[in-house]
Amino acid sequence: MLYLDNSATTPILPEVKEAMLPFLLEEFGNPSSKYYDLATNAKKAVDIARANIAKLLGCDSDEVIFTSGATESNNMIIKGVADYYKNERGNHIVTSKVEHPAVLETCKFLEAKGYKVSYLDVDHYGRVNICDVEKIIKNDPPVLISIMWGNNEIGSMNYIEDIAQLCYEYDIFFHTDATQVVGKYPINLEDHPGIRFLSCSGHKIHGPKGIGVAIIKKDKNGLPTKLTPLLHGGGQESGYRSGTLAVHNIVGIGKAAEVAFENLDQNIKKLMELENKLINILTTKFKDIIKFNNDFKDKIPGILNVQFKGINNEVLVRRVSEIMAISTGSACSSSKPSHVLEAIGLSLKEIRESIRISLSPLINESDLEVFNNL
Ligand code: PMP
Repeated sequence: MLYLDNSATTPILPEVKEAMLPFLLEEFGNPSSKYYDLATNAKKAVDIARANIAKLLGCDSDEVIFTSGATESNNMIIKGVADYYKNERGNHIVTSKVEHPAVLETCKFLEAKGYKVSYLDVDHYGRVNICDVEKIIKNDPPVLISIMWGNNEIGSMNYIEDIAQLCYEYDIFFHTDATQVVGKYPINLEDHPGIRFLSCSGHKIHGPKGIGVAIIKKDKNGLPTKLTPLLHGGGQESGYRSGTLAVHNIVGIGKAAEVAFENLDQNIKKLMELENKLINILTTKFKDIIKFNNDFKDKIPGILNVQFKGINNEVLVRRVSEIMAISTGSACSSSKPSHVLEAIGLSLKEIRESIRISLSPLINESDLEVFNNL
C-alpha cells in the first residue's frame, strides 16, 4: 500500500526511533531534576533537540518552546497574546478564511469572549492579499495577525516574508502556522524579524506525534516576549508552558529537525521530481476528467489537490484504499466539506469531487506507477 497522505502525518524515520528509544527506557530522568546523571542526561538531550530546532528555523534556542503539537502552539500564541495585550493593544485579531481549525476555532472562541476577529478573504489559490493586510492595519490596528505560511489542503504558500515585513514596519505582532512548510522550504527567521511567533509539529516532519514547537521571538531589545500561558504549573519552558517535558518526544522532534536540516535541498528536489512525475501520470491517464485545484507555483512541494469530475471523493478514497492512502482533504475536518476549497470559490459538487495527494521524499518514483494500474 502506497502512503500518499503525508500532510495528515508522516512515518517516523528509523534514526528518529533509534534516538527516542533510550529516553523511553533507561534514560527516564526528569530534565528539571538536578545533580544526578539521569536528570542531567535528559536535560542535555532536550538542549540538543532545542538547538536542532533553532538551527532548522534560524532562531535562538531560548526562543524554542516545546508543546504537544501545532494545535497547542496555535492556541497558546493566539490566546496568550490576545489576553496579555488586550489593555495595551486592543482586542482586534486578524486571520484568514483558510487557516487550519486550530487557528480558526481558537479565533471563534475568542470572538465569543468579546474579541473582534477579521477573517481575510483569499484569492483563487487561497492566498491572502497583502493590500488587504495593510488596509486592515491602517483602519483598525490589530493586536495580532495570524496567517498560515502554507496551506495544508492545497499547498499554496502565502507571501509571508512580505506580510511579516509589513507587520514589522507597523509594529504589529505576527504569527504564522508553518506546520506544513517546515522541512519543505528553507526558513530562516533571522531574515524575517516581523515573524514574532511560529507554530510547527513533529509528526509532519517524520518525527513523533504529540510534540510541537511554538517559536516565541525575543523583542528588538533581546527581551522575552510576554504572553499569558495556556498551562500554569511548575514554570517549565521559561514559564510559557508548564508540565514535565516529554523527553522522548522532544528527542524525536529534535532528531527529525536535524535530518530535515541536513536533507532540506535534496528533499525539496525529490518532492518536486515526484510531484512532476505524478502530474504527468495523472494528466496522461485521466486527461479532462481531472482538474487541479492547486496552483503550480509558490507552493509547498508534494501537495496536490485534484478534482475527479463526476466521482465522489469519499467513494474514490475508499475504492483505492487497498493500494494507496489518499485523503478527501484535511484529516482534522474530514466530515465537513472543506472550508478551504469553499473559500477559493469551488462549488459543493466540486468540493465533493476533490482529493488531496501528499508526497514524501521517502517515496520512490517507480511507486507512483500504481496510478497507471487504476
Ligand atoms: N496547522 C496545520 C496547517 C496543520 O496541517 C496541522 C495538522 N493537520 C495542525 C496545525 C495541527 O497540528 P498537530 O497535529 O500537531 O496538532
